[in-house]
Amino acid sequence: AIGGTAYLAWGVWDLRHPDDQFEPDPHKKNLVVLGTGWGAVSLLKKLDTENYNVIVISPRNYFLFTPLLPSCTTGTVEHRSIMEPIRSITRHKKAAVKFYEAEATKIDPERKVIFINDNSDVKGASNKTEVPYDMLVVSVGAENATFGIPGVKEHSCFLKEIGDAQQIRKKIMDCVETATFKDQSPEEVERLLHMVVVGGGPTGVEFAGELQDFFDQDIKKWIPEISDKFKVTLIEALPNVLPMFSKQLIEYTESTFKEEKITIMTKTAVKKVTDKTVEAEATGPDGKKTMQIMPYGLLVWATGNAVRPVIKDLMSQIPAQKDSRRGLAVNEYLVVQGTKDIWATGDCAVAGYAPTAQVASQEGAFLARLFNTMAKSEAIESQIHDLSSSLNITPGNTAEIAKQIESHEKQLRRIKDIKPFHYTHQGSLAYIGSERAVADVSWLNGNFATGGGLTYLFWRSAYLSMCFSTRNRVLVVLDWLKSKAFGRDVSR
Ligand code: NAD
Repeated sequence: AIGGTAYLAWGVWDLRHPDDQFEPDPHKKNLVVLGTGWGAVSLLKKLDTENYNVIVISPRNYFLFTPLLPSCTTGTVEHRSIMEPIRSITRHKKAAVKFYEAEATKIDPERKVIFINDNSDVKGASNKTEVPYDMLVVSVGAENATFGIPGVKEHSCFLKEIGDAQQIRKKIMDCVETATFKDQSPEEVERLLHMVVVGGGPTGVEFAGELQDFFDQDIKKWIPEISDKFKVTLIEALPNVLPMFSKQLIEYTESTFKEEKITIMTKTAVKKVTDKTVEAEATGPDGKKTMQIMPYGLLVWATGNAVRPVIKDLMSQIPAQKDSRRGLAVNEYLVVQGTKDIWATGDCAVAGYAPTAQVASQEGAFLARLFNTMAKSEAIESQIHDLSSSLNITPGNTAEIAKQIESHEKQLRRIKDIKPFHYTHQGSLAYIGSERAVADVSWLNGNFATGGGLTYLFWRSAYLSMCFSTRNRVLVVLDWLKSKAFGRDVSR
């Protein structure tokens, strides 16, 4: 019986679908959302879409659960398990939401239009157009920082999108197979099996951990002849990795990496990259600088974020943004400074917080509350206007109307009392390999820092509960079980 009820409930949920096609209602404002990442999706989840003509524009038609992206590079988790189609979000809304898979190339705040390009491989006759907006939410994220270092763009892999993880997965196996090619010289084998990760933030650390796991738990078993040649090096310009974690957890991570045989090179800044070498400047304890040239097979570049061109261009059109460097400066209601009808969330916004998924998702939820409130108060304002217009007032109902107006005004004051955005930090988590994780968590006003196997179970359950949908959750658990039972897939 329980199964039947669950099936029925699922069926009803699954079938809920706005039958009516999206027809922009001229009485409603066009609310355009750029992006399908953490900020945009958390806004869409909580937004009452019936109040606006909602249009979502993004070059990818899915949400990506980025915390598990490093696990995708080695096949611990399959890529489709952490993707959720944007339509599975929009089709469950009360009013239809329009989605265009396209890249926003320019925002014109004067004319209030966005220029969009269909950048997919298949293009129709219409592939470039403009979309007008009344209200705009910019949640386009950031691009990979390369600091203009020569060779980085051409030769490294990044770790931001699903395609990056797939490319890395293929390249790891390419390097392994080429290293075992007949008559390969020992130097070439060493180069091909040297995996270099640049950037000791959480992305670099988690990827290095996953990569070493893949080698220790799988590749080594299938191809034992390369056992002593595979090497992972993590390069970080600062004196230590994971600067956002406590000293104790930094030390724990560094000692775990030592056990896992991952080499950490701190105070080492990469200056140049070629197709086969990384050139880095290391600062010794005496302050002396030395140049090192390291041959590599795979190079993964994880040195943080840079501002996207469309955002730079928008900033250049708004005088109030001239001193902002890292993205769109926003006020405490996430309104882009110097504008009235543009809001920004996540990595493209500068609100005084770190560029994390947690921040973006809280900002998105805040905007949904703000917009729902704005719509409600506009509706009440128009009711007040109607009531107070002379047409409704007759000598007999003056007192009654005055009472109604007063009650509406009271309601309006309550609704309008929306507090500015405030970020609540839940803590930081990172996987560091060999079934260990580190966590800096703040609960009940207390902080606790922990690392190890139990923290790993906590990491797993926390990430699982944060997954977008039940479908994602089930797929991720199945992937974990599959890779535990059968090992990861070593085919290219
Ligand atoms: P990051 O900005 O946190 O770290 C990049 C690191 O690269 C820095 O420590 C920097 O010193 C180093 N670096 C820069 N240039 C270098 C060079 N030329 N040579 C050597 N090192 C160089 O980047 P990230 O790890 O991609 O993270 C981006 C954001 O996302 C951060 O806010 C982070 O907290 C967040 N994030 C969090 C998690 C998590 O909580 N588990 C996971 C991924 C990302």
